[in-house]
Amino acid sequence: MGAGNLSSGRMAALGVAGSRAVRHAPQPTDAAGRVSVAAEFGRRTLDMRKLRQRLPGSVFAKLEAVIEKGQKLDRSIAAAVAHAAKEWAMENGATHFCHWFQPLTGLTAEKHDAFLQTMFGSDPIETFGPSQLIQSEPDASSFPSGGMRSTFEARGYTAWDPSSPMFLMETGSGWTLCIPSAYLSWYGHALDEKTGLLRSNSALEAAVKKLFATLGYEAPVRVASTIGAEQEYFLVDRAFTTHRPDLMIAGRSLVGAAPPKGQQLEDHYFGAIPARAAAFMGEFEHELYQLGVPAKTRHNEVAPAQFETAPIFEEAHLAADHNQLTMEMMRRVARRHDFDVLFHEKPFAGINGSGKHLNWSMAALRKDGSWDNLLEPGATPDRNLRFLLVCAAVMRAVHRHAGVLRASISGSGNDHRLGANEAPPAIISVFLGSSLSEIFDKLAKGRFAAKGGAKEKVLSLGVSHLPEVQRDATDRNRTSPFAFTGNKFEFRACGASMAISFPVTCVNAAVADVLVELEADIAARVKRGATPEAAALEVAQAIAKETAPIRFEGDGYSKEWHAEAAKRGLPNLPKTPDALDWLADPKRHEFLVRTGIFKKEEVHARIHIRVERYVKDVDIEYQTLLRLVDQQVFPAAASYLGELSASVASAKAAGIDTPHAARAREIARLAGEIDDARDAMNKIYDSTRAEHDEAKKARRFAYELCPAMQRVRQSCDALETLCGDAHWPLPRYQEMLFIR
Ligand code: ADP
Ligand code: MG
Repeated sequence: MGAGNLSSGRMAALGVAGSRAVRHAPQPTDAAGRVSVAAEFGRRTLDMRKLRQRLPGSVFAKLEAVIEKGQKLDRSIAAAVAHAAKEWAMENGATHFCHWFQPLTGLTAEKHDAFLQTMFGSDPIETFGPSQLIQSEPDASSFPSGGMRSTFEARGYTAWDPSSPMFLMETGSGWTLCIPSAYLSWYGHALDEKTGLLRSNSALEAAVKKLFATLGYEAPVRVASTIGAEQEYFLVDRAFTTHRPDLMIAGRSLVGAAPPKGQQLEDHYFGAIPARAAAFMGEFEHELYQLGVPAKTRHNEVAPAQFETAPIFEEAHLAADHNQLTMEMMRRVARRHDFDVLFHEKPFAGINGSGKHLNWSMAALRKDGSWDNLLEPGATPDRNLRFLLVCAAVMRAVHRHAGVLRASISGSGNDHRLGANEAPPAIISVFLGSSLSEIFDKLAKGRFAAKGGAKEKVLSLGVSHLPEVQRDATDRNRTSPFAFTGNKFEFRACGASMAISFPVTCVNAAVADVLVELEADIAARVKRGATPEAAALEVAQAIAKETAPIRFEGDGYSKEWHAEAAKRGLPNLPKTPDALDWLADPKRHEFLVRTGIFKKEEVHARIHIRVERYVKDVDIEYQTLLRLVDQQVFPAAASYLGELSASVASAKAAGIDTPHAARAREIARLAGEIDDARDAMNKIYDSTRAEHDEAKKARRFAYELCPAMQRVRQSCDALETLCGDAHWPLPRYQEMLFIR
């Protein structure tokens, strides 16, 4: 028995991963067999086109009014819709249906029921009735409710959300009709991510409509927040992840020495996509097209083995559903390509983590059916006024609610990413770019450059002197957590693994709240005799002044920014427990209640669930690290030490001088260091057991246990670097990141 046994699994994995073939999947085609994405797009969704064909005209009109105009659902149409949905689903091979929803776990949930119906020996038939479409009652007791529901009253119910199309998902060997749904407690509390998002959109819509009315603009049919969620991820060969309990259990590596080559050559970003990864992308995009998810962009990211997929933006609630479907499809398809896809925010220490950039804007649906982006700088002065006002509203919203926005993207994974050297800092600020900055600077000073430049005119000269807003030609500031990028803002602090609904809900809520206030302010000025334009300009000017502290065009990664941000009074909430404490303050989350988006209990429940989740995440990481140390790292040290000692002994017997004794002592010293760090970590963990206040426990985990785990890791990584290859059981960073 050689000592090399310890690394045999890893060596086998290297052999497997290094010789994989590329798996080519069929491409989307049209009826004639020509490659066509458009022909397959939405094939597995019951979209408006199919509904129009399948529903009686009057029913379709009512459903369209619900979906396109946001009117209330008329229950009388449910029978016809259910029938059409069942027929379509069965024609396409479905045997089951499920209400598909997004509980507060950040994932999706589904409970499948067969269409099959049989009673007392009667002939079996397949049915799907209106009540089954509209509502279902999964036993809610195993989903987190944050205290909104006690287990003895386990009932929660899912309610059909007609604004998101039904779709077909493959489950095992068959197909299931998935019905996008909201999930509520018996008392109407939102137990899911979706409901808050839908409510926040309503708040935004009402606020915009009222503001437009006051400003005398055309009344929009509907207003929606729009989201394009760029999704970053890592791909690692499954042969490796199966030998990395940390990646399998915690989603990130808890030990692992830095590779000699990381991302310093910057040769991966936008480089040629490796063949296996490209095949994977092609296949999951193909699946997504069929589900009506508009996957658009794919490229390599900064870190080795890191990639990004981005869709064409959509209304926020669709984007939220589609981001969940995207992650689900990526997980499924990755397995077919012998990859594991990692959505963790920081799977590998020392190289870039993964975010989910939320491109955010608002759009108004005009009577002619076209959408009007409210953050699109206009060619005409009055258009510009609207644009500046909306921009100003976003700035005030972010300034006022920076801490809550930080909390909305908090989580144990993101703690490792935010403020690390490549991600936006945990301090939320707004980047405008040089041309828009200049305009807001001048606005703040009460002056405008008239069109063409040079001469400065006083603001009171009137609206017609508003400058044309140019698309920014300057470089993007990648370090900003909330950046204006031409015709939308990009909220970059969101983590790659997160459900987007809550952060988008918070942005929507903050903006809606400010818009309500702006409207009241403008209306009051108009009442005192100002024109709506002049009033709007005055308000924008006041905001330009007041929001100066939230604007930051510099390097968000720099140390100086931390000091500067503190001077400006911006919250710096480095860890999740800090952010959640902030959110727990009623003064700070009152706007979520005031806008009608959440009831107080719902806010508390969300905080509670997040704190609990944080504690569980760190606990799992701790348990995993402890086992890694005891079951893999220590045996490796012992094994290598054994080999070195044997070699020292036989060399001595042969009268040969070797450096092995010194090396053996170094390994023994590191093993001792790991042991000490391990004991210290355990002591801290044990001392937190008695802590029953979860928030306090979370804080202790963040500020005591996590640093102790980090110390264990450092010693393990030092050992890994020195340990003989034949003794090291865990796939190394350079193997996981560079073999493709
Ligand atoms: P960038 O270079 O800024 O990343 P892209 O055009 O690639 O710009 O867009 C990134 C994401 O932003 C895409 O998902 C895109 O669909 C989305 N996006 C573009 N316009 C809007 C908008 N008005 N609202 C929301 N998202 C948008
Ligand atoms: Mg972008």
